Amino acid sequence: MPEPDKISEFSPSELARYSRHILLPEVGSAGQLKLKKARVLIVGAGGLGSPAALYLTAAGVGTIGIIDDDAVDLSNLQRQVIYTASDVGQLKANSAAARMSALNSETQIIALPEKITAANARQIIGAYDIVIDGTDNFSTRYLVNDACVMLGKPYIYGAIFRFEGQVSFFNPTAGCYRCLFPKAPPAETIPNCAEGGVLGVLPGIIGMLQATEAIKWILGIGDLLIGRLLLYNSLPMTFDELKIGRDKSCALCGDNPTIKALVEENIVCASQYSDKELTSTSTSTSTSNTISARELSQLLSHDNAPLLLDVRRGDEYILGNLPDSVLIPVDELEMRLDVLDKDKDIVVYCKSGARSRRAEEILLAAGFKNVRHLTGGIMSWAQEVDPSVGVR
Ligand SMILES: [Zn+2]
Repeated sequence: MPEPDKISEFSPSELARYSRHILLPEVGSAGQLKLKKARVLIVGAGGLGSPAALYLTAAGVGTIGIIDDDAVDLSNLQRQVIYTASDVGQLKANSAAARMSALNSETQIIALPEKITAANARQIIGAYDIVIDGTDNFSTRYLVNDACVMLGKPYIYGAIFRFEGQVSFFNPTAGCYRCLFPKAPPAETIPNCAEGGVLGVLPGIIGMLQATEAIKWILGIGDLLIGRLLLYNSLPMTFDELKIGRDKSCALCGDNPTIKALVEENIVCASQYSDKELTSTSTSTSTSNTISARELSQLLSHDNAPLLLDVRRGDEYILGNLPDSVLIPVDELEMRLDVLDKDKDIVVYCKSGARSRRAEEILLAAGFKNVRHLTGGIMSWAQEVDPSVGVR
């Protein structure tokens, strides 16, 4: 039942507009008031930001900031549904804000047609309760993540690549984006959106999941994706989940942080996705050969088991590794190829799959023929085969 004391906070038109929320016992007028008082920042008004902005506006979030310095391009309309053909050439932040205001004049929309930088990030993010990451490049994502940790703001991560996407909720005390991806993969291994392509509906799905998390956090209902990385693949239509957590060695939120101030990392190649090999079902069209944790565990029980090559750092290896595996950190691999038998089947693994993919490319380039890498890395092994294996 709506709470009479909170009902008075809304105009008759607001009550009518939000009636389907207010009817939900988990929301009610008290929850709707929380939404009205909430301030959400959407960084990036692209594929992820479009649906998040529209749904948060429709839901009655009181204040929404939307920051993007880009202009609408015709090729954006395939997925960035907040824009119409007449917006092409206009600044995204302004066009998006106009569309949002037209949808719900009760919501205060703050258009920020500028780039988020190390100089302005604290001031901009500091004015909001929570941040939705709709960025399409590593530099901005690290910057926004860092600012959120420093300011103690929750940060909802989302990323897409071709047919796949991932979402997580980073609460500053429970780990951050850098815990999951300490470094951006090498620029040459990450195609950008224009090169890689993306299924138009995909950012819609991921952006709406981010908006759902924001609404749940504001209302204080349900279970957030804290400590969980949700992996979506539209082709087999699967949702998988990886357990993630705070990394004590994280340069930002670890026990001995080395990042103390905001910096803009100049990562040249932009990608909508951070680690596509993290997904348990690869739909990549590259020549990369993958093996799942379950397949690998079956293979290891046979006589002609493959050689397991761990390409993480030594400190990661010590905490937990696969039986009979050989450690050669990926950065040393090219120098130490002579210790590996070119005729042997090799399965490479790392924490989540990014470094092993690089290692696989190094091995293939050096003439190794039978190389595969473990999809999802030792994290998926811990989840699917042996939970006792230590993963940091
Ligand atoms: Zn961290």
